[in-house]
Amino acid sequence: MTFPFTKNIHYQNQSLSIEGCSIEALALKVNTPFYVYSQARLLDNITACKAAFDAHNIQIHYAVKANCNLHILQLIASQGIGVDLVSGGELYRATKAGVQAEKMVFSGVGKSRSELIQAINMHIGQFNVESAEELALLATLAEDTSDNTSRKLQVALRVNPNVVVNTHKNITTGQKGNKFGIDMDLALTLFEHYANHPSIELVGLAMHIGSQIFEVAPYREAIQKLRLLATKIQEKGGNVSVLDLGGGFGINYGENTPLDFATIAHVIAEETKGFRGKVAVEPGRSLVADIGLLVSRVNYVKESHPTPFLILDAAMNDLMRPALYQASHPIKEVIQNTTSATRSYDIVGPVCESTDIFASKYPLDTNIKAGDLVTFFCAGAYSAVMSNSYNSRDIVPEVFVNGQNATLVRERITQEALLQYEVNAKPL
Ligand SMILES: *Cc1c(COP(=O)(O)O)cnc(C)c1O
Repeated sequence: MTFPFTKNIHYQNQSLSIEGCSIEALALKVNTPFYVYSQARLLDNITACKAAFDAHNIQIHYAVKANCNLHILQLIASQGIGVDLVSGGELYRATKAGVQAEKMVFSGVGKSRSELIQAINMHIGQFNVESAEELALLATLAEDTSDNTSRKLQVALRVNPNVVVNTHKNITTGQKGNKFGIDMDLALTLFEHYANHPSIELVGLAMHIGSQIFEVAPYREAIQKLRLLATKIQEKGGNVSVLDLGGGFGINYGENTPLDFATIAHVIAEETKGFRGKVAVEPGRSLVADIGLLVSRVNYVKESHPTPFLILDAAMNDLMRPALYQASHPIKEVIQNTTSATRSYDIVGPVCESTDIFASKYPLDTNIKAGDLVTFFCAGAYSAVMSNSYNSRDIVPEVFVNGQNATLVRERITQEALLQYEVNAKPL
């Protein structure tokens, strides 16, 4: 196991630091649990991503659902990266963060009528449509709202390339039977059907085959299928000038070698050679996962045989990935275990659910005790975004670190605040 330390998150005098800030000091200011992100790491990831994809003229749209904190979106927007959105809420956030509408792609299998209208009125760059039914609705709405001056809606069809991906079954999306995407045959028919439509222009094909993928083979196979389809469409007079290849690039949660940007960019460049048009990717996790930590305190060390429980103040409502898809996050003591004597713990949260387990038989300091701090690594993606207030727990705060400066970028959302939505019941 290669522990995912980065140069931005490391021990300094036996105390875990994120850039120039000690986690222990932050925990006194913010109270646990909380998320903390490294700005330098985010900028490094963006730089590496841009260098890899720019070299092959591949456009980048950050998948906002991985982490939609306004401050992260602002930083990403300031670096000239576009966004991939899956809801009207994300569209709203991205707009507030200063992302240009032209750089927005709207994906998602179940966009509502009002979300589509919102996106049409915003004149976003591209719709990635996932069914014939959605396309029909979009066409109707486009005609209703068309003001003559605006160009036709730019639409790509997200197809299901039916490739097998070696990842957790809950995060594959490009296999037959998944709810995502349109069958290849139907896509061809739709291109014919919508040729010369007054307000819709089918411009390309999109795919997203899953998440936390380490092999390049499924990408190659899927892109080849997309290109075959593109050729068929073009033979029938259609125009495929966009290939949007999704995200899913795997990162190291302590057990894997990441699929780095340069490698996948090279593969995409090879497989799209000779394609005349725009090629794009939609990385989410790979840009933000390793920038973040979840910091928590030990509430109890509960002796039990054969394995003692480490009961934390963080729970599944703060970090849902382990309960949702058996994900594992590497965990470390904030004050380094210098004796390196360890024992195995079942690491759990206080929520009243048997699935509120972060790790089983996980080695940590033998002498760990109530009040000590522990940290979950690689908690920048699909982590704070999924937090909720189950068991009437506060919604976890987020901190952004830049060198020695720490900023609270999401306040703790307390029960007092949440109750404001309930106390004044309104008759309907
Ligand atoms: C979630 C998602 C992504 C990002 O996936 P990652 O695994 O985070 O890179 C990209 N495109 C679409 C359509 C998605 O739904």
